[in-house]
Amino acid sequence: MRGTVLYGTGDIRFEDTPEPKITKPTDAIIRLAATCVCGSDLWSYRGISPVNQPTPMGHEYCGIVEEAGSAVRTVKPGQFVIGSFFASDNTCPHCNFGYQSSCQQREFVGGAQAPLLRVPLAEGTLVPTPGVPAKEMIPNLLATSDVLGTGWFAADAANVRPGMTVAVVGDGAVGLLAVLSARQMGAERIIAMSRHEKRQNLALEFGATDIVRERGDEGVVRIKDLTKEVGADAVLECVGTEESMMQAIRSTRPGGYVSYVGVPHGVELRGDELFLSHVHLHGGPAPVRRFLPKLIDLVWTEKIHPGKVFDLALPLDQVAEGYRAMDERRAIKAILQP
Ligand SMILES: [Zn+2]
Repeated sequence: MRGTVLYGTGDIRFEDTPEPKITKPTDAIIRLAATCVCGSDLWSYRGISPVNQPTPMGHEYCGIVEEAGSAVRTVKPGQFVIGSFFASDNTCPHCNFGYQSSCQQREFVGGAQAPLLRVPLAEGTLVPTPGVPAKEMIPNLLATSDVLGTGWFAADAANVRPGMTVAVVGDGAVGLLAVLSARQMGAERIIAMSRHEKRQNLALEFGATDIVRERGDEGVVRIKDLTKEVGADAVLECVGTEESMMQAIRSTRPGGYVSYVGVPHGVELRGDELFLSHVHLHGGPAPVRRFLPKLIDLVWTEKIHPGKVFDLALPLDQVAEGYRAMDERRAIKAILQP
């Protein structure tokens, strides 16, 4: 088969790769209905995270089970399934507490920008949909695999509750879906921080009530202006830079909540500022598996349409253009059709 491999900065290739095989009885092989490029893929594409060897790319996936290992009972060939970027057993203590992305047996699932994918720990990792979806529903289902699951965790980790004022730092696909998630959880006011018109419009469609164009300390001043100098009850940091993290902490009221789901790059927090800020901090790689059954249900019953973040659709063999378009911020998120 042919799959996506990153060789170095800006060097993404679609080339012959070995077909994945069942290597453990707990594995499954799925045939992808669709996959996509993640904002986190761009860190290595841009050379900010080093690429030491040719690396198969892609970790967002949904599709039909092609083959299941001998120990896999709950997932069967022919079923449409969704999983997340960390495979998890869903039975260990961390999984039972809802932190499947810290599973004691966790394994990163890579190589999903390809027609076929091996998923380890298939029973714990994969969630079947109620049936094989219509073609139009696939982008919405694919979004649950990571980008919506991560946005949802941002809202969950920031303890979003009905009536709250929430600010979202970051207008990438995760930030936009964090807006949608905060709306689903009943936030009254949702301030989206974006200076990009197309993204602002999608944030408004997903439930944002206010747009702030400023960033950094100016953005903090605007949030304070909008909240009678109090600060937001919850701020969802969906970028991963020092500026965005400090912007989130400084925009939050004392006693409020900051979540962070952007992979941190060069973020250092000062103890004294953190001490005086009086905020709750909670984040990390999203335990998407915890949320998948609920998110699949919301999509299946057409209560949410998170697939709207895909504003570029390409055949899988044009994956390199998907990376370029996202790198240049011409596209919010590229969906790829094997
Ligand atoms: Zn586990």
